[in-house]
Amino acid sequence: YEVITLFENIKKEYCYGNFLNGEWAFFDKCLDIIDPTSKKLVGRISQMKHEDVDNAIESCSSAQKEWGKMPTNERAKILHKAANLLVENQDHIADILMHEIAKDKKSCLSEINRTADFIKFTADEGERTIGEALNADNFPGVKTNKLAFVIREPLGVVLAISPFNYPINLSASKIAPALIAGNSVLLKPPTQGALSAMHMVEIFNQAGLPAGVLNTITGKSSEIGDYVVTHPKIDFINFTGSTKVGKHIASISGMVPLIMELGGKDAAIVLDDANLEDAANDIVSGAFSYSGQRCTAIKRVIAVDSIVDKLIELILPKVKELKVGNPKDSTITPLVNDKAKDFVLELMHDAEEKGAVRLIGGNYEDNLVYPTVYDKVTEEMRLAWEEPFGPVLPIIRVNNIDDAISLANKSQYGLQSSVFTMNINNAFYVAKRLEVGTVHINNKTERGPDHFPFSGIKNSGMGTQGIKYSIEAMTRRKNIVLEYN
Ligand code: NAD
Repeated sequence: YEVITLFENIKKEYCYGNFLNGEWAFFDKCLDIIDPTSKKLVGRISQMKHEDVDNAIESCSSAQKEWGKMPTNERAKILHKAANLLVENQDHIADILMHEIAKDKKSCLSEINRTADFIKFTADEGERTIGEALNADNFPGVKTNKLAFVIREPLGVVLAISPFNYPINLSASKIAPALIAGNSVLLKPPTQGALSAMHMVEIFNQAGLPAGVLNTITGKSSEIGDYVVTHPKIDFINFTGSTKVGKHIASISGMVPLIMELGGKDAAIVLDDANLEDAANDIVSGAFSYSGQRCTAIKRVIAVDSIVDKLIELILPKVKELKVGNPKDSTITPLVNDKAKDFVLELMHDAEEKGAVRLIGGNYEDNLVYPTVYDKVTEEMRLAWEEPFGPVLPIIRVNNIDDAISLANKSQYGLQSSVFTMNINNAFYVAKRLEVGTVHINNKTERGPDHFPFSGIKNSGMGTQGIKYSIEAMTRRKNIVLEYN
């Protein structure tokens, strides 16, 4: 056992409860959470049943009515308090995160601080959210004096489903905008990541959130997943996770509006007029931080033939320098579970069988995979198209700028892309043609700053996140029309 808890009230024995109607409730059946590094038990989470889910949604639904009427500035005060408490408790929560998902401690701390900033910015943005007034006689032929007051109202109960890789940040990036807009939230954290997420939920509790405004559910997705996403009292689904699960949810959830943040295969396109040293730095940190387990990690390099050898010469020493091992002090850490490691190895074997040239890495110990780079990856290889979610980077050679664009756009994914070039015309030529939500010029792909819009197209998702955009998405327009003389 290696059980680390900051708030003792949120668990019984080793099993964490769920936060329901202002209290921690405990359940009989629990699932083990194993530290990917030490393989020790770090805690358990409750396995809920359908009726428990019903109770949680009912509580969210009735609490929302008062919460939605509370002045925004009062809601904002609670969010600010939660953000401050998160910062105060950062070191301990970062340790839990590090043990739970094997993220390096530095990144855990930065995830928590970024989340606190996100919550504060969201609270402030909520206070600035206003509607608009429209004049009827702006429209041709309208003679009457009418004014439309377009105001924004909360949707009701928001279901927030977050993935394992940023259990604090990607839960808060749904919770805070939903709450400031007057919605209540039902959080379904990832199984691996739930312990950290539950600590943040307790922080919202300590900040004074009224009972029922934020409830949590945990358990096996195979048991409660479909049930909750098709529940008639859910008014919005805000999901981050794999394309497979996201598409499944979208296919069964009916008329409920949704935001989907799904998988990606972000390309770093390197042209012959790039600053190669800068490109290599960005590619290595973009591809390998948190062992590549990031939706916006660089998952393929598409480089023009004339500079690719020089680029590789610059990339390899930087990859060699990456510290591999324990999350306490390494960048490359064990993958979240054996299944994740097996999938990465499967893609690597497929690439090697089909003739990819391994430049570095390829070895692993248990579920710790060493950073690996392949050259001469071709379109026949799965590694050219699939998302490894691990520390393996394919380099694909192309002849010219147009081939780079067309190869990048062949992907089923459309999250982000980078283009490295010192020629502004080439940069915009590529940026305008790429089928993705965001293009970074001379910078690695990454989410944020968090008030920027963030969206994926194609199989990378639907809808736009980003503080202002998330608040907009989780409110509806109400039009009130006044006729006057
Ligand atoms: P996942 O799809 O396996 O799980 C995501 C969440 O969905 C978890 O909480 C899981 O328990 C839940 N879930 C699974 N089946 C469900 C069902 N039937 N109904 C309701 N909920 C269900 O993803 P993961 O492995 O946790 O995360 C990795 C994936 O997430 C990668 O594909 C990555 O690219 C993607 N991701 C995307 C973004 C983005 O912003 N686009 C950000 C982070 C991660």
